[in-house]
Amino acid sequence: MIDVEKIRKDFPILNTKINNRNLIYFDNAATTQKPLCVVKAIEDYYLKENANIHRAVHFLAQKATSDYEDAREKVREFIGAKEKQEIIFTRGTTESINLVANSFIKSFVKSKDNIIISQMEHHSNIVPWQLMQNVVDFQIRVLPMNDEGELQIDKLTSLIDSKTKLVSLTHVSNALGVRNDIEKVIEIAHKKNIPVLVDGAQAVPHFSVNVQDLDCDFYAFSGHKLYAPMGIGVLYGKREFLDRMIPYQGGGEMIEHVTFEKTTFNELPYKFEAGTPNVGDTIALKEAINYINNIGYKNIEEYEDELLGYCEEKLRKSGAIIYGKTPKRVGAISFNLENVHPFDVGTLLDQFSIAIRTGHHCAQTVMQHFNIVGTNRVSFAIYNTKDEIDLFIESLERVKTMLY
Ligand code: PMP
Repeated sequence: MIDVEKIRKDFPILNTKINNRNLIYFDNAATTQKPLCVVKAIEDYYLKENANIHRAVHFLAQKATSDYEDAREKVREFIGAKEKQEIIFTRGTTESINLVANSFIKSFVKSKDNIIISQMEHHSNIVPWQLMQNVVDFQIRVLPMNDEGELQIDKLTSLIDSKTKLVSLTHVSNALGVRNDIEKVIEIAHKKNIPVLVDGAQAVPHFSVNVQDLDCDFYAFSGHKLYAPMGIGVLYGKREFLDRMIPYQGGGEMIEHVTFEKTTFNELPYKFEAGTPNVGDTIALKEAINYINNIGYKNIEEYEDELLGYCEEKLRKSGAIIYGKTPKRVGAISFNLENVHPFDVGTLLDQFSIAIRTGHHCAQTVMQHFNIVGTNRVSFAIYNTKDEIDLFIESLERVKTMLY
């Protein structure tokens, strides 16, 4: 059971008043708010132990290094990776996918090969691959979704051929809140010996992920959607791939030996962590994981499911058009009011102190599929309540009277 009142005390920002009303924050898929323990971890780091890591022998450097490496071990345990060398710290999901796009394509993909993504990807799982087409002449194939917003996984087998080198798909759609059967995707791809990258940005905040159980080959996520700070993210990769991939960026830390003629590279994971990393936020990520673990994913899932079901039913009753049918909605509901631009809905709801997301959600190919300019998206976290949903629906009714 979740004690939501107790949890809300950990997030002072929720006491913000806008237009004399309590803030209702339903933009959690964009970024979650941060609990006090995470903010304190950042403060402690900069007040008590800031130093550059891995290099110096002095006390602060040793302490910062060991806390940074503890955070890596925490992430390993959190997603069930086999070795902590398979955990690479990045700026976020975007950088994690760019890393794989650059290194994987340069290492394993040749002219006329192909990779497969889907129609419901965030731009960060489309554009990095397109950019790499300037380097290697490979093809990007797209797994379609149906009008219900479900991936047509049965079409995957026919998209795969002997030149397919990678499948890269989102676990949960940020634009629709649809959870994909990624287990099935991995099973199909692995039958043909094709590795799979999973974009977990919208998954890990809501349910437990075990990369060994999934048997995915890469898994990417961002700290800031997981109650941790912005600017820290994770790429998990199986050693068998990471070992054979050339580095993404060059610089300090990622080398073993440098001469003007030739450079040899550091071991994993440092080979992929060039330059000074984001030490403070990495340590704060560990705190965020502790915070989630203390609440427990079972409780989080149960509570958020209840919120989602409650909100979806109320939205349907209010006549909203909801996108993405799914047996298991996760995190978000995307909707429109008939003949109303989402920006108008979002702007008016803001007057009622309700923060929702409007627009294409960095998923223009999803909007193109539905032939719409964008949607309104409400997305939930563990500190949201049914009372907030009631107020949101009430406010939406008032917005409707203003617009129709
Ligand atoms: N993938 C998905 C599914 C996302 O929701 C997001 C963030 N909206 C990203 C990738 C990119 O994450 P970030 O901006 O944190 O790098």
